[in-house]
Order: sequence, then structure tokens, then C-alpha cells
Amino acid sequence: MNSFLGSLPKADTLTESKAPMVDPFGRAVTYLRVSVTDRCDFRCTYCMSEHMTFLPKKDLLTLEELNRLCSAFIEKGVRKIRLTGGEPLVRKNIMHLVRDLGRHVQAGRLDELTLTTNGSQLANHAAELHDCGVRRINVSLDTLDPDKFKQITRWGDFSKVMAGIDAALAAGIKIKLNAVALKDFNEHEIPELMRFAHARGMDLTVIETMPMGEIEEDRTDRYLPLSQVRASLAQQFTLDDIGYQTGGPARYVHVKETGGRLGFITPMTHNFCESCNRVRLTCTGTLYMCLGQDDAADLRTALRASEDNALLSQAIDDAILRKPKGHDFIIDRTHKRPAVARHMSVTGG
Ligand code: SF4
Repeated sequence: MNSFLGSLPKADTLTESKAPMVDPFGRAVTYLRVSVTDRCDFRCTYCMSEHMTFLPKKDLLTLEELNRLCSAFIEKGVRKIRLTGGEPLVRKNIMHLVRDLGRHVQAGRLDELTLTTNGSQLANHAAELHDCGVRRINVSLDTLDPDKFKQITRWGDFSKVMAGIDAALAAGIKIKLNAVALKDFNEHEIPELMRFAHARGMDLTVIETMPMGEIEEDRTDRYLPLSQVRASLAQQFTLDDIGYQTGGPARYVHVKETGGRLGFITPMTHNFCESCNRVRLTCTGTLYMCLGQDDAADLRTALRASEDNALLSQAIDDAILRKPKGHDFIIDRTHKRPAVARHMSVTGG
């Protein structure tokens, strides 16, 4: 496929990346998560309301603008980019952006280009993703039961996700499955999800629910502490703590019986902020310096103000100086309201 960049500088003509940006708490910011769309072809009950109002198309950055922003971050020392959504693969022509960002991987300026997907479109894109330099992806999957899958995703087709996983593995892409632990939904299915993942050479990460965005459900009804999940797994499996790191907040164990890795992400019960190396960019050019705080920086104005990157570069530097120490997540049991009003689909988790 041809590049859509036209007059923009090619990845291999950009200057060498510099030492990473460092925030006021001494953390190097080397990881950029980019939500390329707020839209999704699923309506997971814990993520979206069934009748979501999406951003008007005119507010979205073009793929060219997203590419320019990502390239600016790479020049400032970002080494890993993850495309998220919504569902990133439903954005029209998204593979054009993937291909252009893949050039940074080829040139050694980016260690990793990856994405988090619901898997619905993977069968169509797996081979091309691999061709663009994508070697690992995260696939969100909360259940192996097609009826429950329909219940939780409302619109999802389980067989398409399975076909997507198979296609990605066949293309040589490593997969990590992400499952959100939900009380009275999948708490008894986690061993099965783990066996499914490990039998195919995939890691599984279990995630505690996060209180983001207004949804119809009462989140306190679904909140399942991972300490409980781990204790219950430990009755059946031998879980050995390991120091394995993917640059994310998960803490991993090795499961003796399956020979695979299991990760736990516990934003609610542990403060996972000390080693935070990331910032999140939305598809409108807003930069969130912390998933659990509302403070954000508008990069779109600086991006559009001039073709030169000087203003943009300054706006990024100013934003990084405002990166907070940590989040204030708490599911408010009195008011049952989210701690952060924006939906996860805005910043991509
Ligand atoms: S959780 Fe993921 S797949 Fe489900 S609606 Fe949200 S963005 Fe879509």
C-alpha cells in the first residue's frame, strides 16, 4: 500500500530521537497510547452505553495529523506506541497510519508499534499488521461463552473474534488476552480463559474494573477485587511471582500447571502509578497525562497553528510538566458515579 503522507517528512528522514521526556516526578515518558477513534463495533456494558453519542467527524484529527503528532512524540523520545480506540481497526483507512508508523520501527526509532483490539476485524488485517512491523497485540476478551459474549458486548460476534485470534497467531503476531474481571459474570471462568490462552501460547491479563464514564450498570455490583481472583486461582494452580515486565502496570505470575504467564492489573487496589511511563492522546488531539485524572492538554491547536513543529513541541513539553503523581480512582459507593467522567473509549484504557 502506498503511503498517504504526501508532503509530510518520511519516517526515515526524521531526526534521531532524543533522550526521553521526563516528568516532574522523574519518570521518563516513553510510551504513547493513541486513541484513533472513539467508535466501536461493540457496546460492552462496562464501557459504553448502548446509545452512545460519538464525536462529530469534524472534530477528529485526520490520519495525517495523527501521524504528525506521533512522529513528534517519537522525536521527543517515545519508544512505544499503542493504537487504541474505541476499536482502532474500525477507523477508515487505519492501515495507512499503521504502515507509516511501522517505518519508525524499521528505522529503529520505535521499539514497538502495537494495538489493543476487540478482535472483530483482525481476520482482515492480521497479515498486513505483521507486514507493517506489528509483532504483539492485546485482544480484549472477557468470556469464552458465545451467549455471555453477546450479553457483555451487546453487538459482538464471538466467532469473528475467534477467527481474528487465529489469523493473528497464524500471521506470527503474539497475543495477550485482556479480560476484565466482573463479579457474577466471568469470575468462575477465569481458569478456563487462562487455559485457553496458555494452550495457544498467549498471555492472559486480568483487569479490575475502572470507574470511567456514565453507563447504565451500577459498577459497584460488578466490582471484583483481583486479590479475590488470585486467591481463588491459587486453590487450583501454582502461581509463582515473576519479575516479567512489558512496560505496563501488570504484575505477572508463572502458572506451573499451564506453563503460561498470567498478569494482574489492579488500578483500584494498588497504586500502580510509581512506574508510569505513558501519556494518552485522543483522536481529537487532547493529551491526557494520567488515565485517572481529568487534566488534559490541547495539542490540536498547536498542531494546526503552523506546519512547523515548534509550537507543537512546546505544547508537548508543557503538558509533560503537568503530569500528575497518580490517579484518584475510587468507585464511589455513595453516589455510584464514575471517578472520571469521560468514557474509557475516549482515551482507550
Ligand atoms: S470495551 Fe472495547 S470492545 Fe467493548 S465497547 Fe469498549 S472499546 Fe468497544
